Amino acid sequence: MIRLRFKVIYCPRRALALADTPRPHCPECDGVGGIAHDYGDHYGEYAGTDWESCPCWSQWAVILLPLPRLPRWSRRRRRDSDPWAPSRYSNEPPF
Ligand SMILES: [Zn+2]
Repeated sequence: MIRLRFKVIYCPRRALALADTPRPHCPECDGVGGIAHDYGDHYGEYAGTDWESCPCWSQWAVILLPLPRLPRWSRRRRRDSDPWAPSRYSNEPPF
């Protein structure tokens, strides 16, 4: 069974996507969606973690609609980042 949910993804760009989710009470992954395996090098030292995704869900997402970039009004207005403001540090030659 596939349990779909909406989620916002950020890669490659912000978009609203329909995604599958892990089984909440999966005996394999406990709802986490995968099993982490720590592995060591030949000296027995910790060398990293392998992430094995659980077969109880599929890691796909269908992009429903790309979300627009943050609207202008939510950006912090900063005078010194205004490209039209006169700047003493400008390297552009005058026309
Ligand atoms: Zn699982």
